[in-house]
Amino acid sequence: PARTRFAPSPTGNLHLGSIRTALFNYLLAKRTEGQFLLRIEDTDQKRTIPGAEAQLCRDLQWAGLQWDEGPLVGGPYGPYRQSERTKIYGDHAERLLRLKLAYRCYCSAERLDILNRSRHEKGLPLGYDRKCAHLSLHQPEDRARRRESHVVRLRAPDSYPPWHDFVYGNTGKSGQQGRKTLVDDPVYDDPIIIKSDGHPTYHLANVVDDHLMEITHVIRGTEWMSSTPMHLALYKAFGWKPPLFGHVPLLVDQNNQKLSKRNLDTDIASFRDKQGIFSDALVNFAVLLGWSHQQQSDLLSLKRLEEIFDLKFTKGNTVVSFAKLQFLQERYARQYIAEGGTQFHHMAQKVCSILREICDENHISAILGRRSLEDVVGLILRADWKSYTTAEAFAQRSSNLFKPLEELPAYKPLNPGCPLSALRVAAASFLLIPDQQWTAAVHRDNIAAILPPGSETGPAGDEATGNVKVWRKEICHFLRWSLMSGASGPPLPDLMEIMGREVCYLRINRAIK
Ligand code: GLU
Repeated sequence: PARTRFAPSPTGNLHLGSIRTALFNYLLAKRTEGQFLLRIEDTDQKRTIPGAEAQLCRDLQWAGLQWDEGPLVGGPYGPYRQSERTKIYGDHAERLLRLKLAYRCYCSAERLDILNRSRHEKGLPLGYDRKCAHLSLHQPEDRARRRESHVVRLRAPDSYPPWHDFVYGNTGKSGQQGRKTLVDDPVYDDPIIIKSDGHPTYHLANVVDDHLMEITHVIRGTEWMSSTPMHLALYKAFGWKPPLFGHVPLLVDQNNQKLSKRNLDTDIASFRDKQGIFSDALVNFAVLLGWSHQQQSDLLSLKRLEEIFDLKFTKGNTVVSFAKLQFLQERYARQYIAEGGTQFHHMAQKVCSILREICDENHISAILGRRSLEDVVGLILRADWKSYTTAEAFAQRSSNLFKPLEELPAYKPLNPGCPLSALRVAAASFLLIPDQQWTAAVHRDNIAAILPPGSETGPAGDEATGNVKVWRKEICHFLRWSLMSGASGPPLPDLMEIMGREVCYLRINRAIK
């Protein structure tokens, strides 16, 4: 069983890239019957945004990615918030200090700046010259006791050994060097592990926690790949076995530009609240970004993914196509409507609440009669399921039904050749259908039977066929305008059944006057 974690910093909203990382880690844990942890990496207090943690917990839960250990649920390896673990990191840094694998550095920001500026001018790699690694015996500890401001640095190895990434394979052979140059004034990577305010850096906290929380696999974005050799050096310094690392490709747009975190459109909240995307659709969309499968269809529910997930990731940038998200959204909508379960009721409720905002309550009641809005919207959804993309769009599409016709645009013929008087005659034939026969099936038959006045032969095979089609189309067009002012909606026979005889009677009558 794998123990995995999602380790966000609460510095903003969860976006597409982060939900994908969380999802991969979640799925690996579920597939192997392991545990998925949520750890809040808030060591950089200045960047922490109040409320962001609660929001990201809600977003993850909305997506169905419930963590087994972490905030809100606790667990045996807590606390799961790094700001509550400062002492643990301090103790671990002490351990490396005692082993002389880390050292205290008292260099001022100015000194480091001058050092690197001159190196930069000479075109040399940047780093630290290890001045403080050579302080005389007791000096570093004495100065620390006198509370002199300093940081703790890891003594990086001269070169980082190659390592294995379970996405990218063997990595780092020609990679980074701990000692940046072999000339007379070498500089070293020697990353800071404790900052001058006593808080750990991301690197130390991340490594210490992954070890103490017994994480077995780390799946994270390629932006962290350059830090991994140094993380491995930290594991080595502590004498720990590192977890397995896999870095998943960067998400880019069609122009191969990084999908920006600042781009609000990739926020989970924007998908959910503004675009009305279902969590099933979003999760399905996210999993296909950089992961490949052998299934017949791309339509994969979270439950199914928990059974089939494996580590077959793709390499190289992943182009995000939002058309795919729309496609998945529509497929899930159809599925929900066909199933008629909880999701269907949520959809109907959402459409209802938008309709209540955009239409007058009195007009709504006039259409409904004794029925409830939920029921009628349910009927429209069933009849018009092909058109569902989002609740917002669907409510807009259906809203003309709940508005008074006099406020809506008037009928414009498709084919001005069909005289209005004749349309009236045809329309009147519908008004003769009695209440108990007012069904979509009867209307469908009635439409099929409509013939232009004076045409006795019927549609079959005669040269009037083309005309009959034009005529029938015009009748349907006219009826739709009478009922919904031209707005698209369910097929006409279904629409008539849904609206009921009484409402249709009033509206059609008004149109043929
Ligand atoms: N806190 C890091 C982030 O915000 C975690 C990176 C990692 O998974 O190691 O993405």
